[in-house]
Amino acid sequence: MTTSETVPRELRVVVMGAGMAGILSGIKLKQAGFTSVTIYEKAARVGGTWRENTYPGLTCDVPSHSYTYSFEPNPDWTRFLPPGAEVQAYFERAVQKYQIEPMIRFNEEIVACEFKDGRWHLAMKSGLRDQADIVIAATGVLHHPSMPSIAGLDSFAGSSFHSARWDHTVALDGKRIGVIGNGSTGVQIMSALAGRASMISHFQRTAQWIFPVQNDAFTEEQKAAFRSDPVLLHRMQNEETYLANVERFTNAVLDPNSPEIREIEAIALNNLNHSVADPVLRAKLLPDYRVACKRLIFSPDYYRAIQHPQAALVTDGIECVEAGGVRTRDGKLHQLDVLVLASGFKADQFMRPMNVVGRDGVKLNDVWAKRPSAYLAVSIPGFPNFFMLNGPTGPVGNFSLIDIAEQQWAYIAQLIELVRSRQCSEVEATQAAMDDYDTARIAAAKTTVFGSGCSSWYLDGEGVPATWPWSQRRFKEAMAAPEQAHFALRA
Ligand code: NAP
Repeated sequence: MTTSETVPRELRVVVMGAGMAGILSGIKLKQAGFTSVTIYEKAARVGGTWRENTYPGLTCDVPSHSYTYSFEPNPDWTRFLPPGAEVQAYFERAVQKYQIEPMIRFNEEIVACEFKDGRWHLAMKSGLRDQADIVIAATGVLHHPSMPSIAGLDSFAGSSFHSARWDHTVALDGKRIGVIGNGSTGVQIMSALAGRASMISHFQRTAQWIFPVQNDAFTEEQKAAFRSDPVLLHRMQNEETYLANVERFTNAVLDPNSPEIREIEAIALNNLNHSVADPVLRAKLLPDYRVACKRLIFSPDYYRAIQHPQAALVTDGIECVEAGGVRTRDGKLHQLDVLVLASGFKADQFMRPMNVVGRDGVKLNDVWAKRPSAYLAVSIPGFPNFFMLNGPTGPVGNFSLIDIAEQQWAYIAQLIELVRSRQCSEVEATQAAMDDYDTARIAAAKTTVFGSGCSSWYLDGEGVPATWPWSQRRFKEAMAAPEQAHFALRA
């Protein structure tokens, strides 16, 4: 006999964002039989960071076959490291193949999300309103450009834009180009444009460690083998050397004095010493902090690019931007036609500036006033049935965030199931679980290499790394199943 208690609840689910994690949510919800799902996407296309970043040289520095959904291998990757446009095309294909496009409402930016009377009430910029029982925030980490605070930026007479807002109408060949910033983005742009510009000036405030990597193209024979042999393709996705390297790397960053981190430092130092001939340039490129304190940069060609006859490394410090270019503190004007701001992102925003309000009118902005955090990076006390993928304090670093999102999804799915199967109508982390997690996390994070004395987007407003500070293995164990004692369940 079926009673209303045994019939699963029909839940309405709203997903915020149709990037990698939002697409994953849509596929998983569809496969689990959820029929009332809407993914709100502020732009006109899926893809998130891969839609927004189109700069020359854009490449994912995680190996192609590891940067895939576990359930959707791709035999057609053209290179060891995938070009950005291929990653974008991969996500667009997944949307088509799993038929989740009908779920997506494009050009709908959520501006408010408030929990009232047991449901989430959403307001879109367009004026559209919606309600949901469950909300999945899949808004990404690096999507609000951070503009450099440099005097006179607006006075530049040439073309200037942020790396994530590339203006493809601007001619680059034979131009005088300046690039501010040498994170993963600035390094890739420099590497792509050296030789195309009549002169390219790389403005470096802080030197970066560069880890060597090869980026070979897959041959037609290799791709044919991937297509015809699913076992081989699966093995590529779970390539043992790569997985072992990720484990070695993620363990190494936990201890700035570990032999493993010293080994990584030795490889990066060797890369610099063997790649850069001029001792003066080499000295300028040598960082004065521990390797991997900032996100480690993998590049096959940056050192070659910066030594190009029509390239210059500028380390004098920027005084201001003027109509004609960038003036450095030594008084020199670096005349430019194009100025690229590869100055990074506001990594502490997550779903903000959206106004998220939990139970009893509690504002997310107030809860996160000191630092954004969430229990195990997925749930916030006072915000029932609200779950995050790649939320604050999750693992970030030189590995695939797709794998992290999939693990988080498997965990969140179990919490949603509690509501669906009527074991409760609201579920959220308890304040005690959140406090214990935060206290332990902050203490551990301070001792990682991320907290060893450099500035980076990993650090929160108080200088504490905002990252998962334990091993990947511990994360996997934590994501295996929710500890019910750490969750408050309301009837
Ligand atoms: P980022 O790592 O935050 O680097 C920003 C750069 O801008 C830094 O070099 C910073 O200098 C510089 N900068 C900022 N304000 C400045 C100012 N006022 N004057 C001079 N320099 C200034 O940003 P990103 O390179 O865009 O990379 C962000 C993250 O995106 C990466 O860490 C990575 O996680 C991801 N990403 C990944 C890939 C990939 O291949 N998977 C590619 C690109 C990006 P300081 O170091 O001195 O602060």
